[in-house]
Amino acid sequence: MLKKVTFRFYEELNDFLPSTKRKKRFEHNFIDRTSVKDMVESLGVPHTEIDLILVNGNSVDFSYLVDNGDDISVYPMFESLDITNLQRLRAKPLRKPKFILDVHLGTLAKYMRMLGFDTLYKNNYKDDEIVKISLKEKRAILTKDRGILKRSEVTHGYWIRSTITKEQIIEVIKRFDLKSQIKELSRCLLCNSLLKKISKERVTDRLPQKVKDSQHEFYHCKNCDKIFWKGSHYTKMMGIIEKIRLL
Ligand SMILES: [Zn+2]
Repeated sequence: MLKKVTFRFYEELNDFLPSTKRKKRFEHNFIDRTSVKDMVESLGVPHTEIDLILVNGNSVDFSYLVDNGDDISVYPMFESLDITNLQRLRAKPLRKPKFILDVHLGTLAKYMRMLGFDTLYKNNYKDDEIVKISLKEKRAILTKDRGILKRSEVTHGYWIRSTITKEQIIEVIKRFDLKSQIKELSRCLLCNSLLKKISKERVTDRLPQKVKDSQHEFYHCKNCDKIFWKGSHYTKMMGIIEKIRLL
């Protein structure tokens, strides 16, 4: 027998739905009973994006078997609505946020390191590898490919909406609430290792004349021996950070 439920997705979860299903209640038909997690993902929404599911007004976990006539509301992470008495679905936020990025997000990886966030990135990562590292090192996956977030073993992840790096970094900072954890020039842009301050005298013969004349603070990566200073990328980045701090 064909069974019928109604769905309503809230806030940014609508980004995953076709326009005909956005921000309104819609009907969904099914035959075999299935978990609410599988049904929601079959509609295009990765489970890592979801914080709360209400069925007929009661919170349920992902394994809930959907029944004929159910009325299902699906919510993303949110701060303003008090849901303390309800069952949250997401695993606890990672206390020290660490990330692994997919192959499409190389520029974002550099920006994130510039802000001091522990960010793994390789332009030849395979999906399996990303998932494995994410679980082993408790890293949140940032991706342009929502398929990877639909894998059941993935616990922390976020689908990057924008294609513009400046907007992507703002998305990540908002979603993971990172504003207070920005520590610029603490991490190597190339290899993600922590940087140490180094005196100008020790690096002076490696600097272009222009930098020698204008810069006084230098940072060194022990791992790849690269030197960083507050150059034009840094200035541009600080402009973006100022905007983020005002959000
Ligand atoms: Zn390095």
